Amino acid sequence: MKVIDHIQQAKKTLISFEILPPLKGKTINSIYDHLDPLMEFKPAYINVTYHRSEHVFKKKADGTFEKVEVRKRPGTVGICAAIMNHYQVDAVPHLICGGFTKRETEDALIDLNFIGVDNVLVLRGDAAKNETVFEPEVSGNRYAADLLHQVTNLNNGIYLEEDIRDGFRTNFCIGVAGYPEKHFEAPNLQTDLAYLKAKVDGGAEYVVTQMFFDNQKFFDFVKRCREAGIEVPIIPGLKPITSKKQLSVIPRTFHVDIPTDLSNEIIKCKTDAEVEQVGTEWLLQQSRELKKNGLPVLHYYTLGKPKVIYNVVKEIV
Ligand code: FAD
Repeated sequence: MKVIDHIQQAKKTLISFEILPPLKGKTINSIYDHLDPLMEFKPAYINVTYHRSEHVFKKKADGTFEKVEVRKRPGTVGICAAIMNHYQVDAVPHLICGGFTKRETEDALIDLNFIGVDNVLVLRGDAAKNETVFEPEVSGNRYAADLLHQVTNLNNGIYLEEDIRDGFRTNFCIGVAGYPEKHFEAPNLQTDLAYLKAKVDGGAEYVVTQMFFDNQKFFDFVKRCREAGIEVPIIPGLKPITSKKQLSVIPRTFHVDIPTDLSNEIIKCKTDAEVEQVGTEWLLQQSRELKKNGLPVLHYYTLGKPKVIYNVVKEIV
């Protein structure tokens, strides 16, 4: 079922979770162990992130180095199939531009359609680990809006192979990313919103946000989106802080602020167990306020911390 249909048919705020594919060498059981406790909350759908390959230098026997391409977390299509089959819940794979030609993307979309996936979250992806700016593949998509265009084309039966006439029309519901604190490359929020609007005008049916720790920033963002004519549902992305290290890692990695009240509380903590308690309580307060404001879905980044998410969600469902 499509995310947009879940939202339109819901009588209350829905819950969704986001997971990472397991590291190569682990099995699907690590996903089930992660998700099993969370399934009692009946998530409407589960997002599966995508992680592009990176180049690493491996030392050879003769002392020289060899550049090797490594994918640490493969298997998105398989994980979506496993989740849907094991839990009878919709999976939402993340599709990125980075590292893919349009042909590879088309093949991935065809595979996703074959296994019964109805949704995709389309993203640009970040620059590869060894690059400073994002560069698309030759004959790949540059922006999320371009990837979105490719998916809508397939939804209209338009394939890259021009000799496919009257091709099967896929029916993917397409979500896109939005940034309450602005995407870090955008010169200002206004410009960023104009590009977000272009994604919505191009066929995106909902927006999921980057994490934020100050609900007011989310509410302001929604207001600015509405003023800019973005009328689709906007789903807040939520993540707990669980260690002191994250006070610097999160702003550096995700380009979001941590409010002073929260950072002061965390600085006072003597152990990460204490930080986890503070982070859980903060996320719970955020969730309660968002739910009170009638948000359609609360989307939790579970990333290795299912216990914290469990403790928060059990208080709000
Ligand atoms: P875009 O919408 O393409 O925007 C990228 C930048 O380009 C922005 O600054 C925008 O303002 C600007 N821009 C857009 N269109 C144009 C244009 N036509 N001309 C000039 N500038 C333009 N990354 C992963 O690798 N895997 C994941 O699974 C993943 N999941 C994510 C889930 C969510 C909910 C979010 C919020 C992010 C996720 N990311 C993921 C990270 C994401 O890939 C990065 O934030 C990336 O840098 C931007 O992606 P985007 O889709 O927002 O890009």
